[in-house]
Amino acid sequence: MDFNLSSEHKMVQRMVRDFAQKEVAPVIKEWDRKQDMAPFVLPRMAELGILGVCIPVRYGGQGMDYITLGLVCEELEAIDSTLRVVMSVHMGLCCLGIFQLGTEEQKHEHLIPLARGEKIGAYGLTEPGVGSDPANISSTARLERDEYIINGEKMWISLATKAHTVLWFARTAPKGEIPHEGITAFILDTSLAGVTRGDIHGKLGVRAGSTGWINCQDVRLPMGNRLGEEGEGFKIAMSCLDNGRYTVGSGAVGLIRACIEASVSYANERHAFGRPISRFQLIQQKIAKMAQSYEAARLLNLQAGWMKNQGLRNTKETSLAKWFATDASFAAASEAIQVHGAYGYSDEYDVERFLRNARGGIIYEGSSEIQTLIQAGYALGLRDDSPLRCELPGYDPDDWQTGA
Ligand SMILES: Cc1cc2nc3c(=O)[nH]c(=O)nc-3n(C[C@H](O)[C@H](O)[C@H](O)COP(=O)(O)OP(=O)(O)OC[C@H]3O[C@@H](n4cnc5c(N)ncnc54)[C@H](O)[C@@H]3O)c2cc1C
Repeated sequence: MDFNLSSEHKMVQRMVRDFAQKEVAPVIKEWDRKQDMAPFVLPRMAELGILGVCIPVRYGGQGMDYITLGLVCEELEAIDSTLRVVMSVHMGLCCLGIFQLGTEEQKHEHLIPLARGEKIGAYGLTEPGVGSDPANISSTARLERDEYIINGEKMWISLATKAHTVLWFARTAPKGEIPHEGITAFILDTSLAGVTRGDIHGKLGVRAGSTGWINCQDVRLPMGNRLGEEGEGFKIAMSCLDNGRYTVGSGAVGLIRACIEASVSYANERHAFGRPISRFQLIQQKIAKMAQSYEAARLLNLQAGWMKNQGLRNTKETSLAKWFATDASFAAASEAIQVHGAYGYSDEYDVERFLRNARGGIIYEGSSEIQTLIQAGYALGLRDDSPLRCELPGYDPDDWQTGA
């Protein structure tokens, strides 16, 4: 077992840390208050190669491994969760879905512009009436000659108003006895006639990001935009979540780290009863607990990234890593506010934003309740991973770093 990061890992880590700390941190409060995404964020992430970090060079990416993806997410979320959310939906859920399951033609048409950051990707599974139970979605896709006619509404979609390409899940067969069997995945182009969308305002957290709705009314989508086979959509959606959850878990590690750094700095400065509050055992206990959960969350996520590099199925490990890290990041943010006392309760300090942002991680990409059920299923022997037609390719540097 080798826990060392390579020089390439460290180089990307430094580059992303510099971007987040120097370019985003100074303006993040302003954009969080405005409830909008700073317009420079996506173009700059594209320019730095972050939007294609773990896609092979021949498909427009940087040819780095999945550990690098985790490190990128950690650095981004140490400044603000909205930066990591970009990686979760654009890379984890959309690009890696097309990379894993797309045909060569689809990869050339859709993955290359996404990995180059010329286009932005999103993932449309949740609907106004269905979140945790996506087997019961009601969006439809009806085949008419060589086109699918798409109807339906997706809700709570990250980057809804920014994305050019959305992995869209719809029902191609009516709900039968096994509801998920009639679901199919599509690569939806948001410029098509009949697509409308908007942002949701008034969210608790991830305010400097975009979360919205997308509606399709009689959208005509070429047959070639179907991802996988008819009826395979539910498995594809779940498989994409194995990658999205990894980015959420890795990001939460960065959020815990940010809580530790903020708490240590404040606790050393703030005095009470004639001493820095860092000298009080009850304050130390809070910081020690954050440090404990940081290390455990980091190792769980590194394990998931390592398994992805090896091409091993990691549904169980990724779910565990996401569940532990997001719960721990919420607890860390809450304790960080406690360390800051009243100042932590205002937006003068970052920790109140950390708490609001951390709250989302325990809802999206499978709430903590859903992760609990998944883990209980494995532990009790009630759940097993059925094989996928096509697994996420493991990392092969010789192949990935070779140009087209
Ligand atoms: C900021 C944000 C960004 C998002 N981005 C995306 C996106 O890009 N794409 C996308 O498709 N979706 C996205 N979502 C939606 C997200 O994935 C769903 O909110 C999530 O899956 C939960 O679904 P729900 O909100 O409908 O809650 P519900 O499914 O209605 O659940 C409500 C509560 O009941 C609990 N519950 C449900 N079933 C069970 C059960 N069997 N046992 C115990 N408890 C249960 C849930 O855990 C939850 O606490 C986003 C959500 C947020 C908040």
